[in-house]
Amino acid sequence: MSTRLVDTHAHLDAPPFDGDREAVVQRAREAGIAVVTMGTDLESSRRAVEIAERYAPWVWAAVGVHPHEARRYVHKGRFDPRALEELERLLQRARVVAVGEIGLDYFKEFSPRDAQKIALEAQLELSQRCEKPVVLHNRDSEGDLIPVLKRYSLGGVWHSFTGDRALLERVLELGLYVGVNGIVTFPKSQALQEAVRAAPLDKLVVETDAPYLAPVPHRGKRNEPLFVRDVAAFVAQLKGLSTEELSEATTANAEDLFGARLP
Ligand SMILES: [Zn+2]
Repeated sequence: MSTRLVDTHAHLDAPPFDGDREAVVQRAREAGIAVVTMGTDLESSRRAVEIAERYAPWVWAAVGVHPHEARRYVHKGRFDPRALEELERLLQRARVVAVGEIGLDYFKEFSPRDAQKIALEAQLELSQRCEKPVVLHNRDSEGDLIPVLKRYSLGGVWHSFTGDRALLERVLELGLYVGVNGIVTFPKSQALQEAVRAAPLDKLVVETDAPYLAPVPHRGKRNEPLFVRDVAAFVAQLKGLSTEELSEATTANAEDLFGARLP
């Protein structure tokens, strides 16, 4: 039985995969699962592209600077022009389908908010220039993120959506896809589950955020793209659909979002 799925957000370049990356991709592929692997800084973006090229046509890459890393690329109020140039070059490679992951994180706040905003805007402009969608990270920062996004006309996905119905409405108004991962399977996620139940099927995509955030029943272990099946099964149940129906819909959405076709 092969259900096609796209794990729209994973970190295949992360160290927890160093020992068995090939086997991890192989397991996903045998289950009909394609993966979009994220960059979080320049080094990680280069690795993401390498991985996507090595495991084509099952892996695609996104390149970008994560808000945690923003402070390393913002100097004197400006995003490092050389880094921007390199990102732009990487975006021209065939396996690179998006700018990501980018956004704001006021929960951990590893970079000062000003630097985060500068990095975000520089990369939103890059996305417009290169006509590639964005993969957005948000944590406790929607009050600043949404007004910025309103000034651009972008395609993209609000990754790791964990909000309630009110936030869902605001994300949908921006025309973005909503990325749902293992957090939805946690017992405490009732407001999120209610939002996902209400979300239009043609705006949902599924993801793992592997190696982080393993869904139930793998919670606490290393996450991997194969487990996107558990996310899909859970969301299907929430929405009263078969896993197959949910998989087909979210896969078509992912293909549309990234302008890419599954093998
Ligand atoms: Zn991520």
